[in-house]
Amino acid sequence: MTHALIIGGGIAGPVTAMALQRAGIGSTVYEAYPSGADHAGAFLVLFANGLEALAVIDADRPVRENSFPSGTVEFLSDTGSTLGARPIAGSGDGPRPRTLPRAALYRALRDEAARRGIRVEHGKRLVSTSTATSSGRRPAVTAVFADGTRAEGDLVIGADGIHSRTRTLLDATAPVPRHTGQLTVCGRTRATGHRVPAGTYRMMYGRRGFFGCTTGPDGTTYWFANIPGAELPRASLTSLTPDRWRSRVTGTFADDRTPAAAIAAATGDDIVGTNAYDIPTTPVWHDTRTVLVGDAAHATAPNAAQGASMAIEDGVVLARCLRDLPVPAEAFAAYERLRRERVERVVAMSAAMAGRVAATPEERRARDEDVARRMAEDTGGGTEWLTGYRIDWGAPVH
Ligand SMILES: Cc1cc2nc3c(=O)[nH]c(=O)nc-3n(C[C@H](O)[C@H](O)[C@H](O)COP(=O)(O)OP(=O)(O)OC[C@H]3O[C@@H](n4cnc5c(N)ncnc54)[C@H](O)[C@@H]3O)c2cc1C
Repeated sequence: MTHALIIGGGIAGPVTAMALQRAGIGSTVYEAYPSGADHAGAFLVLFANGLEALAVIDADRPVRENSFPSGTVEFLSDTGSTLGARPIAGSGDGPRPRTLPRAALYRALRDEAARRGIRVEHGKRLVSTSTATSSGRRPAVTAVFADGTRAEGDLVIGADGIHSRTRTLLDATAPVPRHTGQLTVCGRTRATGHRVPAGTYRMMYGRRGFFGCTTGPDGTTYWFANIPGAELPRASLTSLTPDRWRSRVTGTFADDRTPAAAIAAATGDDIVGTNAYDIPTTPVWHDTRTVLVGDAAHATAPNAAQGASMAIEDGVVLARCLRDLPVPAEAFAAYERLRRERVERVVAMSAAMAGRVAATPEERRARDEDVARRMAEDTGGGTEWLTGYRIDWGAPVH
């Protein structure tokens, strides 16, 4: 039986392992961190396309059990006036988008993979890979980890995220993540008096940043803020305290007549911030034995909130390709053909959202008029190509 070494136990890793199992291919997941990280206030939204991709491998139930749905998005201007509301993209005939803490999503996927008998090894940080052909055997690939241990398999799947080591091993000249000029801060609080109506995301255009929040069934308000800021050294991110992030966010929205600053101010230690990155295109996705999935292949700025859903889609599509095309290089080429155009369109869309800034009062007025007009006309965000995407597991890949 073919055995895959999956590097990274975030979102793409466990999903790919479960999809491969359904395709009759074994795998082990190697995760760098010793155990699941807490991720403080971080949370994610999964849209209909990501939820339906999980359903293809019957892995959507644990995600649904740990999340809550939203069907409406409304927009406020920095002046505090409501610009309009519409159904969230994908809320039409597919499942409604679901919100859940990042740590809960990681845990749900890893636990579900483990329940299906898939091995997830922690504390295994990939350092290098090598391919060897010993006489009478088919070529095998060896992964070497930072703790000095090794693992051997038939192929390597790099699901190791935005700063992927596998990407650099595949192509030493691979582009490095590009900072979008923004910091993304997430928080959650039950202390705020500002509750958003059930099933609604309230988005607020600030003069200097963008803020969004929703309130879950237990009264917790989840919020995110995209604020301008230079790239922070990666090593310093973990040492930035919740106080520092809170004051950056409250300062950014202090001059707006929206509840953004008050919600951030009412948040305790459940705050975490990070640099926002993307990579417009990654030229090399695979060689004959190694392939990339998720952020490793197509790092997306967080603005479109589609990176996790894309990572899930990748894992399921790759498994279909490996099921039907036993030569890995052919399966990888088919996978890239099926995925590249779509994911790069998402990366570009998210980058455009990150780049939208209304700096002057005139620009803000024009933006408000434009948003209000689009709200009045729009029923689903015009993103059917994105959230309406479905994977036909039964269809053969040629
Ligand atoms: C602030 C923020 C908000 C976001 N919000 C959303 C959202 O609402 N909706 C959405 O769909 N997407 C969102 N995203 C994007 C989403 O988080 C990513 O696209 C998604 O996590 C990608 O999944 P992945 O499995 O490819 O990578 P990751 O989830 O990053 O997982 C990679 C894993 O690989 C491990 N790893 C790294 N290096 C090694 C190594 N050398 N060896 C072994 N293991 C390694 C890491 O520890 C990690 O566990 C957001 C991103 C950010 C930053």
